[in-house]
Order: sequence, then C-alpha cells, then structure tokens
Amino acid sequence: MDDGTEMDRKEVAEPLGLSPSRFSEFLEKKALLQDWGEYEDFFRFSSNVGKIDEGSVLVKKGDVFEFVQGFPKIKRAIMLAPAIKSHFADIDAVAVEEKMNGYNVRVIEHNGKLIAFTRSGRVCPYSSERADHLLEHELFKDHPEYVVYGEMVGPDNPYVPKHIYGVDSLEFFAFDIRSKEGIPLPVHERRDLAADYGLTQVELLGEFEVSEAAEGIRDIILELGKKEREGVIIKDPAMVLQPLKYTTSETNCADLRHGFRYYNESGKDYLFARVVREGFQSVEWNESEEDLEKRCLMLGKSILMPMRESIMHVQEGERLWEDVQIRVREVSTIDKFRMYLERLGLDAIFGSPELIGDEYVVKIRKMNKSTTDKTLGIIEGQLWS
Ligand code: ATP
Ligand code: MG
Repeated sequence: MDDGTEMDRKEVAEPLGLSPSRFSEFLEKKALLQDWGEYEDFFRFSSNVGKIDEGSVLVKKGDVFEFVQGFPKIKRAIMLAPAIKSHFADIDAVAVEEKMNGYNVRVIEHNGKLIAFTRSGRVCPYSSERADHLLEHELFKDHPEYVVYGEMVGPDNPYVPKHIYGVDSLEFFAFDIRSKEGIPLPVHERRDLAADYGLTQVELLGEFEVSEAAEGIRDIILELGKKEREGVIIKDPAMVLQPLKYTTSETNCADLRHGFRYYNESGKDYLFARVVREGFQSVEWNESEEDLEKRCLMLGKSILMPMRESIMHVQEGERLWEDVQIRVREVSTIDKFRMYLERLGLDAIFGSPELIGDEYVVKIRKMNKSTTDKTLGIIEGQLWS
C-alpha cells in the first residue's frame, strides 16, 4: 500500500463528498482496494458507497485522484411487451442494439497506455494489452474526459469464448461512451463519435415506436436466435432512462448447457433464472404445440446432456476442466495474466506459448475442482445434504 497518500486522500475526498477520514476508513475496511504491480495507481470500490457503485475506480494522477464510475446493472425484461410499455412509458421510441456475448470492459488512457477495467474495477492485464492494441488512441487523446465501454468478444477469450461472431481472435465492440462520472452520451451521438474515431461497435438493429417495439424485437430475437446470438439491449435514444436487456432462447439454453456441465460451480439463481425466462417467453409468444415441444426438448437437453457428460467423464477417472486461450503480443502479459487469475483464486494451468505470426497463443486449462469433487463424492456414495 502506498503510504504517501495523506495529502492525496484530501484531494480526492472533496470532489467525491468523502471526508479524508472516511476515505482512510474505506481503505482500512477494504471497501476501497489498491490494485497491484504496475497498476498501483488504481483503487477500486469493492462495494457500493453512497452514490459510488461497486467497481468504480480511483486513478491516482500525481497529487490528485480521478474518479471513474462503474458500469450500472442492466435490468432484464422477462415479458417483453408489458416491460417495454411500462419502463419506456415516458418516451416515444427506443433504439435496439445487439447484446453481444463476451465480457464487459471499461477503457481509459493512463500515462499514454490504454487500461481496461473489468466490471469489478480490476485492471485485467490481458484486456489492457488487447485494448491498447485494438482501440484507436485518438479518441482518448481528444477526449480525456470520456470512458469507452465495450464487450470483448471472440474465441481468444479467457472468460467467455465464443465462435459465433466471425471474430478470429478477440475484438472490442463499443456500446457506451460515458463521462468519468458515468453520464452516457445519447445513442446517436455516441455511435457517430465512435464511427468518427474508427471504433468497432455493436450493431444498431433498429429503432421502434414504443407501442410497436415488442413485436419488432420479437422478430429480431427470432433471427438472432437462429445464429446463436445472445439478444438485444433496448435503449432510450437519449440515454436518460436505463436500458433493458432481453435474450434469445438459444442463449438461455447455451448458458444452461455450460452451467450444468459445471453444475457445482454455477449459482443456483443463475440456472433457475434461465429456466424462468423460457417459461415466460413461451407464454408471451403464444407458440404452436410443435414449437413448444421443440422448446421443451431443447431446454431439457441443455440441462441433462452436459451434466451426464460430466458425470460420465468423472466416472472414467477424469477431472473436469474448461479450455480457453489468450493471444498476446508481449510475453510479459502471460505472467501478469497468470498472477491475475491466481489472485482471483482461479485454478488454471497455462500451456507453453506458441508463436503464431507476431503473437503468442497460450492455452489455459481452467480446472473445475468443485464439480469434479462433488461428482466424485456422489459416485462414491456421498449423499446430497
Ligand atoms: P448486469 O446484468 O449487472 O449488467 P451481467 O454480466 O449479468 O451484468 P449481462 O446479462 O451479460 O449482464 O448483460 C449486461 C451486459 O451486456 C453489460 O454489462 C455489457 O457487458 C453487455 N453488453 C453487450 N452488448 C451490449 C450493448 N449493446 N449495450 C450495453 N451492454 C451490452
Ligand atoms: Mg454478458
């Protein structure tokens, strides 16, 4: 911990409305945590503190701290038509963007380098290296007041690897530009700015009158589903009202397949919520007997098949794991990322780097100890208590 921060604490405390003593108290209580290694300039809020969201970050800049707001939770529509009608009652139209399935990062420039924070406010060394290389720095130079939010998508992805987007390695898709205090730019202003600076961005799939949105979105969702895509985010074009999210049945089932493969690592709420979504979608869309049968089959298979595979795998004396990979320019990023995962408490085995072109691909085996041990126990006669 940096000890020369008494003065600095005062500097940060005033604009945030935190007294210096409260600031120290948060540090002591670990509500505010300092990052490590080369990222000691960053402090993240590990819980909500007044108006400051968990995951928000303080960036030490010489004698002062700069505040970077976290990314707010996006609420979900479970029944599309009534949710849109009530949530967007005060506006005429909504913008619908694709919800891409990867992981959320927030990018800023610090000392000439781009830094990517994950949702929790940690600096991810892999994402930072990728962001620094993937994003135009121009926007950050011209607009140091902005934070660019986006989804990291593609197969070279240690958290949510997906092959469905035609991305070869890993791409950053911008979906928000906000001030450091968290005030978002309106949808069109943000899209124009991102386009001007050559940022790759999520697709704008349509704009609808609020009264017609549910029907339009249903058609979009059915099409996205055929491509195994995740869903949509429904936004107030002015970005004053909070966005809503809605997902395809295919993605709900894909989540269940993954969740039940590693059933003891997955939260029960996570799994249960995905089943409930299927129930409401099937009623709202008033589907035919035939479509309902298909949904039942898909839902059941998504739950049972991967679980069976896991159990049989363990029965054969194997352990359970998930293979992911990263692709880096700097060899040093590999060690930084290994340490980062270790600090998160993840059990991961790194393969040796393989030089492909001018980058290194590293395979990472993430061990699912909890599901392996639970399954082994049950096979050996343990009871479910
Ligand atoms: P939360 O519900 O708290 O936002 P979560 O990780 O459970 O977090 P998701 O269900 O994945 O959330 O949905 C929200 C996430 O969707 C955002 O955090 C963001 O990373 C991602 N996302 C993808 N595309 C978009 C988009 N076009 N606009 C906004 N967010 C998007
Ligand atoms: Mg997501």
